[in-house]
Amino acid sequence: MPVTKTWGPEAVSWCARAGLKRVGENRVQEAVDKQEQVPEQVAWELIGHLQSNKARQGVTHFARIQSVDSAKLLRLLDRYAGEARVKRAVLLQVNAGEDPAKYGVTVEQTPALLEAALGCENLIVDGLMTIAPLEMDDRSVARRCFARLRETRDRLAEQFGVPLPVLSMGMSGDWREAVEEGSTLIRVGSALFGQRG
Ligand SMILES: *Cc1c(COP(=O)(O)O)cnc(C)c1O
Repeated sequence: MPVTKTWGPEAVSWCARAGLKRVGENRVQEAVDKQEQVPEQVAWELIGHLQSNKARQGVTHFARIQSVDSAKLLRLLDRYAGEARVKRAVLLQVNAGEDPAKYGVTVEQTPALLEAALGCENLIVDGLMTIAPLEMDDRSVARRCFARLRETRDRLAEQFGVPLPVLSMGMSGDWREAVEEGSTLIRVGSALFGQRG
């Protein structure tokens, strides 16, 4: 999935014309502004932290929210999706690398969050998302994080009897490790578009 944050609407159009029909954005307002300027039909996915006061826009402006990290946010999204009479797909963000600089629940908190998510009748839980710690010279840190997310998904799928098919993990610097560890969705920005300004 191309990540078009900081790039203009033309980057999204370019992706759509190249056959990439979904894009990732990390800020609600930036994406909303861009959506008005993109004529092509693409599925917008939110990959950045979502604040409660933007949860309604999260529902109305994104096909899927990859960054769900609290039961409170789940309740809001479920309510707004119900009001809008839509079903929304979500991924649960897990801080599988235990990086203090990253959002997401711990691996230990994930079963409780999944249980809450499965109780939301207007949300569809597609799987899990993680952002690996940034370790330039040691790819094994990212690899362990990705393996941990996959193991967590396998365990939860078994325990809850739900498939959780999507593992969103891997970015420009670590997508190879992510794919080797079972990623089904890599989020790639700078490797496609160049360094962000
Ligand atoms: C920016 C961003 C990406 C893409 O990062 P690159 O290193 O440019 O590929 C992926 N995931 C998230 C959550 C991001 O915020």
